[in-house]
Amino acid sequence: MTVTTPAGAPARTDPCRADLFIGGRWRPGGDGARFPVIDPADGSELAAFAIATDADCTAAIEAAEAAFPAWAATPPRERSEILRRAYEILTAESGALAEVIVRENGKALADARGEAAYATEFFRWFAEEAVRVPGDFRRSPSGDKTIIVSRQPIGVSLLVTPWNFPAAMATRKIAPALAAGCTVVLKPARETPLTAAYVVDALARAGVPDGVVNLVTPVPTGPAVAAMLHHPAVRKLSFTGSTEVGRILLREAADTVVSASMELGGNAPFIVLPGADLEQAVAGALVAKMRNGGSACTAANRLYVHRSLHDAFATRLAQELGRFRTGPGIDPANELGALVSTGERDKVAALVEGAVREGAHVTLGGEPCGPGAFYPPTVLVDVAHGSTINRTEIFGPVSAIVAYDDVEDAIRMANDTIFGLIAYVYGETGAALAVAQRIDAGMVAVNRAVLSDPAAPFGGMKQSGLGREGSAEGILEFLEEKYIGVDL
Ligand code: NAD
Repeated sequence: MTVTTPAGAPARTDPCRADLFIGGRWRPGGDGARFPVIDPADGSELAAFAIATDADCTAAIEAAEAAFPAWAATPPRERSEILRRAYEILTAESGALAEVIVRENGKALADARGEAAYATEFFRWFAEEAVRVPGDFRRSPSGDKTIIVSRQPIGVSLLVTPWNFPAAMATRKIAPALAAGCTVVLKPARETPLTAAYVVDALARAGVPDGVVNLVTPVPTGPAVAAMLHHPAVRKLSFTGSTEVGRILLREAADTVVSASMELGGNAPFIVLPGADLEQAVAGALVAKMRNGGSACTAANRLYVHRSLHDAFATRLAQELGRFRTGPGIDPANELGALVSTGERDKVAALVEGAVREGAHVTLGGEPCGPGAFYPPTVLVDVAHGSTINRTEIFGPVSAIVAYDDVEDAIRMANDTIFGLIAYVYGETGAALAVAQRIDAGMVAVNRAVLSDPAAPFGGMKQSGLGREGSAEGILEFLEEKYIGVDL
């Protein structure tokens, strides 16, 4: 693929960087070991990626530590301009970035293009936020002093990201961290390191100074992340991934009282109210369920449909999904690509088999379609609230529909989960807004299927997370307040 970079920006030299990036230098791991990066569409090996040793991880933290004072002191406008340049580079190269995402993640090209655009926007958004960090200056109520509140970068930040949005989950953390004046060590998911390397390379070409952004890929992950978290230089952990791993990391962060932001799992309810526009609700479910092939923390996981619309909704959804073309994501004709691995495909297949054992009926799909990590669009009806599939984040193209009679029951069932990331409500606007107010979730989409926006706060309630990414709040996660009292 021909890659066009903006005028003046260095061109990308290696289309498939597979090394660590420490202190501004690409290099193999200390013991030369590598792990395979697999294309889930056909099982082929895309690259052999460097394994970071414990010493490499320490070197990355210490490179970030060394770079921190100068980066924190860099004028916000300069930091902003570097981020803006990263935005321009990745905008010009979005096709190439999307292709890397498809190859290692498996998703459909249209989803990867959408992710590349979304990921890149975080650099533009936080380039704008870098120069707008607020503070406070006021007289105390008793009049005895002046209160000055300033914000300063928290310090070296460890960023741990998942495979499902390998570009966007990295940029959603790197951009606010750099805007705030923090230096970072990125630890991407083992399945998708090439996308992370692409993003880091773009930042280097945008002029990010050596040591400000570092990339490590230790195998196994757990002990290496724990060791990095315990390094005294690390003052921030920003994690996106499963609630299960988030709990482990929160415990580990407690040892050194590291500030922790957590973007964790979801189990999104999709509620269709009586009187909802059927076609609008079906169109919304198609997007809310199938975006990213269902491998999204925001994916509609539990479809609660009022009995008056249930049969028509289930039929129309199956008709529309039956038209989806499944196959290698790199072919733009395919709307559904592969899951990230055959292991993930087998998890989805086991969930569907379990649902059937628990009384659900398959009206579409329901069998893995290989070779490759493919699972077809699947519709399940007669799913019981509280059944295993209803309580589990499916992370695949399976629509599990529950019929309900009373809106109060729909609200109760929607809230009956440890998760609280996002919910979808379809219905007459007033009624839908009233329901939205009563859902325990950090985000509610009313009569629409896509909410993510760099300008809006993304995050969950309950066990879906702590803190928010994007918006004006995203940068605050990487800043600490300092109060100075003074007699003027
Ligand atoms: P995961 O929790 O298995 O892994 C996430 C990251 O943590 C990876 O980099 C992984 O290597 C690392 N990791 C795994 N075990 C670890 C350990 N013991 N110590 C330290 N690090 C460890 O998640 P995943 O399977 O990559 O991603 C899917 C999950 O991510 C889903 O639950 C999804 O809902 C969640 N997610 C949440 C959001 C959000 O914004 N809330 C966004 C995307 C994905």
